Amino acid sequence: MNKLICSICGMAIDDKNYFFNKEAFLRKNTSGNIMFCPFCGAPVKYLVEDEHKINTLGHNLDEWHLKIVNNAFKLEVFNGDFYKEASKLAEDSKIKDMFKALSRIEYMHASVHKKIGGFTSEPNLKKLDYSKYAGNDKLLEMACKREKHAVEYYEKYANRMEDNKIRDVFNVLAYVEKIHIQLTDKK
Ligand SMILES: [Zn+2]
Repeated sequence: MNKLICSICGMAIDDKNYFFNKEAFLRKNTSGNIMFCPFCGAPVKYLVEDEHKINTLGHNLDEWHLKIVNNAFKLEVFNGDFYKEASKLAEDSKIKDMFKALSRIEYMHASVHKKIGGFTSEPNLKKLDYSKYAGNDKLLEMACKREKHAVEYYEKYANRMEDNKIRDVFNVLAYVEKIHIQLTDKK
């Protein structure tokens, strides 16, 4: 396959990594058919062969926009931390692996916001003890709730973002978190 660059997270996708995080997707990339970025989940239309096509202009954000992006940054770190802990608590190896992959994807989303906002440090979040949620069902329920909250957040603000790139990021992440809702929704 030709190397592709994700215009959302900036990662390069090639033969060595197109299958990464496969536990966190409903569909499967193959080397002949790349459907999404394995790192952030962006659909194929955001993947380009020519990285010069990616708009990397600095974002001069006013205070209000910065606050919205900063809250998104925190939300993704919070969810990344949650999945990391949840992967330790899950009983089933399949769910463990899915949580691990979800954790990596949420941290990638966090790093996208970090770049956009030009933030220099990680948010200082209180470490929560999730052990009382041990057990697959409870963890999945918590996960699903978080994903729904994330979708609500991105959908609430996407159209209020004046910068096209940020609007794209919010719309893409809302889409990706909807896949996570499907994955964690306990039938
Ligand atoms: Zn990506």
